Amino acid sequence: MLCPRCAYDKTTVVGTVKGAINTRSRKCPNCGYIWKTRELPVWDTCPSGYKEYLESLFKDEEQEETKTKWH
Ligand SMILES: [Zn+2]
Repeated sequence: MLCPRCAYDKTTVVGTVKGAINTRSRKCPNCGYIWKTRELPVWDTCPSGYKEYLESLFKDEEQEETKTKWH
């Protein structure tokens, strides 16, 4: 993945939290920036209903993030 700060393309994964959706910490060796990513399935390749299932799991978390962001 490209670094969101400098667009360097050889970024490295420095940590992974595994689950239905993986959360990774990535680091850019060029500028030192660290950020988090989520690894999602490509929905077209999943059984029907899987996307809705995952969305229901992460709904509460997304709402928390929205609150933090806007209030
Ligand atoms: Zn960078």
